[in-house]
Amino acid sequence: MIINKVCKYTLSLVCGWLLTCTLSYASEWLIYNVQGYTLTTQNQLKTFSALHVSDDKVKATYQKANQWQQLPASVTRVNGQGYVVLPGLTDAHGHVLGLGYKKQNIDLTASRSKHAALQKIKQFAAEHPKQQWLIGRGWNQMRWQSQAYPQAKDLDLVIRDRPVWLRRVDGHAAWANSKAMEIAGIDANTPDPEGGQILRNEKGKPTGIFIDRAMDLVRAHIPEAQPSDQQQLLKNTLLQLAKLGITSVHDAGVSGETLSLYQQLAQQHQLPIRVYAMLSASSDDYLQWLPKAPIFTADHMFTWRSIKLMLDGALGSRGAALYKDYADAPEQQGLLQYSLEQAVKKVQLAYQQGLQINTHAIGDRGNGTAIKLYQRLAKANIKPLNAEQPGRHRIEHAQIVAPKDMDHFSQLHLIASVQPTHATSDRDMAEQRLGADRLDGAYAWQRLKQHGIILTGGSDFPVEPANPFYGLHAAVTRQDRTLKPRASWLPSQRLNREDALALFTVNAAYAAFQEEVLGTLEPGKYADFIIIDRDLFNIPDNSIWQTQVMATFVAGKRVWPKQDPFQLKAGVSKQRN
Ligand SMILES: [Zn+2]
Repeated sequence: MIINKVCKYTLSLVCGWLLTCTLSYASEWLIYNVQGYTLTTQNQLKTFSALHVSDDKVKATYQKANQWQQLPASVTRVNGQGYVVLPGLTDAHGHVLGLGYKKQNIDLTASRSKHAALQKIKQFAAEHPKQQWLIGRGWNQMRWQSQAYPQAKDLDLVIRDRPVWLRRVDGHAAWANSKAMEIAGIDANTPDPEGGQILRNEKGKPTGIFIDRAMDLVRAHIPEAQPSDQQQLLKNTLLQLAKLGITSVHDAGVSGETLSLYQQLAQQHQLPIRVYAMLSASSDDYLQWLPKAPIFTADHMFTWRSIKLMLDGALGSRGAALYKDYADAPEQQGLLQYSLEQAVKKVQLAYQQGLQINTHAIGDRGNGTAIKLYQRLAKANIKPLNAEQPGRHRIEHAQIVAPKDMDHFSQLHLIASVQPTHATSDRDMAEQRLGADRLDGAYAWQRLKQHGIILTGGSDFPVEPANPFYGLHAAVTRQDRTLKPRASWLPSQRLNREDALALFTVNAAYAAFQEEVLGTLEPGKYADFIIIDRDLFNIPDNSIWQTQVMATFVAGKRVWPKQDPFQLKAGVSKQRN
């Protein structure tokens, strides 16, 4: 019975590749005539022309045809038609539900003016007359002409009767209308919460902008989606990621409730790609969930063994904590959401349990404080339970690291979890916020690497597009996708293509304690790989981001597309040797 089920399942997935299709060769097959690349666990680039898959694992890679031609006929041969094979890519920092909601709600990412944003909101409201709260994300005042924060009164011009709540593109600020503030009971007497700020006019009246932890004041009043809807949303969004060539995602800050939805999906074999989740330390159910750690499934489709602490804000909303004043806002140095003592308190239980502590830090003071946090944990009488397995703790973003802090960063063996597309989207804003003299440690990938720090890469979707080839392009060029700036931004910090690929493969696996099973196409590892339309190592820089993914395989099974992409083309292999 079980065997039948497995066969049927495998058959339906593998069949698309083949014209003659029987159960006998479903478990072992080989794709040949490909231009294959993988890094090795030692970060060496290796090429191959055939990939041999046995069940869910890589059995071998071959450079020459005569190496596989003598394999028994029971091993199915599939002609890869010269396409390019890469290991599946990992996004080491994304927000899966955030991306799902972005597609469902008002998306202001493309709005180039306040007026355009308001028109979009008005239109969405008209199309969704029954929706109680109008929720959205993606505005960025730095891309508008005035560069000034919008206000509640702007929103009131288009919507007065329903509450509106719109997060900034970076998720570190939100814009509310008067109705939303009325429901949340916010007025001139509401104090700023710790780690947050309510922007006010000269009379002390809130203007409608909430920074970092001040967002909780309104957020608490927004009705939550049903778990069943959320589960569907997670599944759909993961499938969207599979289409982009992502076979594993590190979900950077989820609630315990989301962990349990992932766990259920994994148990029902419904996760299209792998999920490595970080429990958010600011989630209401954080303390309740800690004793349940770690949770993982034997097939490595779902893993929870890390937490995420939000230490400072973002540069765009001037919430990133800096050592000195913002260059464009005298007397402002950003916000730490927790003092060092509070941060130690917040994470020590998780640390003791041997969990990986992933700290969001963007500003130089944010990063410096994160480093102090790890120093304190290492020195204090707080010993992790599993001392043989060092924590591989991570700093998420590691965006502005003061050169004086780099050595400490490396001595603690912290991993820098960077997002290359942030550098290309932020560069003008970062220069305004920091001034030229503080750019030395800004998005300084090469400098971090030279300090022996392991870097892993992600997109921070929905802040940036999830497409990992945009990240590879940004890492290699430090140019945006219109190839600006011409001379590249701080070009000494560019990575070569091997190092860029490592961010999204082998290093990402290491950053999730999965390097023995994921990250490279070496024998014994899971057969997570993608087929793409161009040769990543032999195309001009500006072609990298245009790469198209033809098919995505997780554990040897095609998860996307449903139909064999090569069937439409002439020359699908009938060869069975
Ligand atoms: Zn993030």
